[in-house]
Amino acid sequence: DELAGDPSRENVPRQVPGYHYSPVAPTPVAAPRLLIWSEEMGAELGLARPPEQGAATELLAGNRVADSMRPYAARYGGHQFGNWAGQLGDGRAISLGELPGQDGLRWEVQLKGAGPTPYSRRADGRAVLRSSVREFLCSEAMYHLGVPTTRALSLVSTGDAVVRDMFYDGNAHPEPGAVVARIAPSFVRFGNFQILLAHDEPENLRALADYVIRQHFPELGEPAPEVYVAWLAEISRRTAEMVAHWQTVGFVHGVMNTDNMSILGLTIDYGPYGWLEPYEPGWTPNTTDFTNYRYAFGQQPRVALWNLTQLAQALTPLVPDPELLRPALNQFVATFNRAHHVRLLAKLGLTASNDEDADKQLVGALLPAMEAAEVDMTIFYRQLAHLTPRLLAASEPVESLGRELLAAASYAAPDDAASASLLVWLAQYAARLRQEPATLEAIRAGMLAVNPKYVLRNYLAQQAIEAAEAGDLAPLHTLHEVLKRPFDEQPEQEALAARRPEWAATKPGSATL
Ligand code: AMP
Ligand code: MG
Ligand code: MG
Repeated sequence: DELAGDPSRENVPRQVPGYHYSPVAPTPVAAPRLLIWSEEMGAELGLARPPEQGAATELLAGNRVADSMRPYAARYGGHQFGNWAGQLGDGRAISLGELPGQDGLRWEVQLKGAGPTPYSRRADGRAVLRSSVREFLCSEAMYHLGVPTTRALSLVSTGDAVVRDMFYDGNAHPEPGAVVARIAPSFVRFGNFQILLAHDEPENLRALADYVIRQHFPELGEPAPEVYVAWLAEISRRTAEMVAHWQTVGFVHGVMNTDNMSILGLTIDYGPYGWLEPYEPGWTPNTTDFTNYRYAFGQQPRVALWNLTQLAQALTPLVPDPELLRPALNQFVATFNRAHHVRLLAKLGLTASNDEDADKQLVGALLPAMEAAEVDMTIFYRQLAHLTPRLLAASEPVESLGRELLAAASYAAPDDAASASLLVWLAQYAARLRQEPATLEAIRAGMLAVNPKYVLRNYLAQQAIEAAEAGDLAPLHTLHEVLKRPFDEQPEQEALAARRPEWAATKPGSATL
């Protein structure tokens, strides 16, 4: 508590040098109503779905604070779009405290959109329903895909209007407000360490590092110089696993600033994210990134490494020689390359062969071919799984199977010459597939278990939002249920697995705020 900010100033925007966090209570809202709840997260925490209105929903909206809670907002900084931005901090997120999970580990409960904090700067501390639906749905979708992520417990509408100045017309548009309760073992980010280096607070830096290691990385042992190095290597490894997963499900984070990088390697801060539809490494959902495409899909691995390098910089006071940290960063490259390759092989139903170079070439050639043929990444892999029996049977020309695949998955015109490389690739793939020792059924089942049928397509999220804004929660609930079983065939929900309709083609993801 001696590290906490001055509680007498509660939510006055200010710099908070010398502190890790500031005690601050959520600001009550007009009329909280529970819109959606995660049964699985609730069960983990031993919490049953509360009624739409009532005491529990008041807690989830920040209207009531239990005696056992010590709400606070964290201080952190970060590089935004490559530039050091100074103090940022939890400007609209307030942590209530921790709850034990079924496994005995502790989970932090944080309300996003709970009102101003010392870190709100000139903003209001609130979140709109639109962005809150996006956070809830996407963190659920990612969890059920098996991607490391912060979780969502609940989404509550506030009954208050929130005004966002939309940059494209300069006018104020009141929107319904909402609060998401999100959950993670910790919300500590790279930026929590960076701010302590920037403000020359080495004792605070060590205190935070030691706390995080003891709480969340106890297997590394008691903090010591070599343990800090091993810790950075482990953060690098986890970050690489996370990004390899993103790259193989088509998730584009959209705003990989260092304040949006979890020290636990979790996907955090669901803002202007999007999902690849046509496979396109240069695509970003973030309209504010349309000049540089810094956070485009294909940039994510190198940005993650850049961010880890900033974290390493922040940790230099903990080791006798900064050079000691360099090998830890190499862990990122090694892990990413391996994890990415292994995931791509699995998506193709292949197990590592003794000709690794040939496999790398085959897997590597697919990506530009998918881009040229403008195939929907999710549909392509899923259809490929269904096609494997016929590819293996070799009783039909590969070319005609390829045309079928393109008809199902491509956004380009039929017979587009740009599809040629994909047809060539498919013939090579069919030959390689025939060398697999596993049974046909095992290959297909394995592919269906790693290639999702359902992802949170950008326009589906948008449709669920527009319905919810109009008072109809059914599309939101349906989409949530479907995304909990992304690898299952759900025959009544074929429409939610379809190619993005043409009208949705140019609609980028929503703006961050
Ligand atoms: P983000 O782009 O979501 O990572 O946010 C960057 C910084 O802006 C963080 O410090 C956020 O807490 C803060 N922020 C974003 N939206 C708001 C808001 N509506 N009110 C206060 N702070 C905000
Ligand atoms: Mg953020
Ligand atoms: Mg955000």
